[in-house]
Amino acid sequence: MRLILIGPPGVGKGTQAKLLAEHLGVPHISTGDLLRSAVAAGTQFGKRAKSIMDAGQLVPDDIMVGIVRDSLSSPRAAGGFILDGFPRTVPQAEALAGLFDHLGVRTYTVLNLEADDEEIIRRLGNRIMCRNEGKIFNQEMDGITARDQCPSCGGPLYQRDDDRAETVRERLRVYHSTTQPLLDYYDGKGVMITVDGMNSIDIVNREIQILLNDVQSSS
Ligand code: AMP
Repeated sequence: MRLILIGPPGVGKGTQAKLLAEHLGVPHISTGDLLRSAVAAGTQFGKRAKSIMDAGQLVPDDIMVGIVRDSLSSPRAAGGFILDGFPRTVPQAEALAGLFDHLGVRTYTVLNLEADDEEIIRRLGNRIMCRNEGKIFNQEMDGITARDQCPSCGGPLYQRDDDRAETVRERLRVYHSTTQPLLDYYDGKGVMITVDGMNSIDIVNREIQILLNDVQSSS
């Protein structure tokens, strides 16, 4: 299974990618997580990436393509992968097509997760994450705050700096202007399925699995 997840910030790509990766036994490759690891490591690149991320902007294409090339070329991705957060621009999608050619990847599916901006703003305002495992929680639904401990591992919780309201508005603007054109790109290739991300995690997950089964049985 080679799956590419596209959708606005906060639509549930990370949550669904983790569930699918576990279910399908393939690695979850999140470019946002890879960048956050570089930020946490305090490297020169991490510092530059943090200022770009906190402004709600995109890290330059050539850097992102290099990161994804390394991840997809590694043996652990040879049997399949779930790519979350890449591509985000048409040039990134074109570079990915070249990389797929190079790696001999001929079949893949693009999952487009949809939600409206109001719901996104509400969800991201409530999103907290576990610093140890990257697990995602919702303050409202899970009844916890960033001051509590992770209900799963007991580790510290935090709110992402780029989940502040003004940054979220900029991330949404960038999504609509730069990432949304990818939907036409992949729709034209006939590889895209679309799922409504406004429903609960379980319902969205079930719907994705049904559509992926359809794709696999018709290929
Ligand atoms: P995410 O965790 O996917 O929401 O990504 C967090 C931030 O990392 C984004 O807002 C961007 O600043 C940066 N980022 C992640 N993936 C990419 C990408 N494919 N291209 C450019 N910037 C990215």
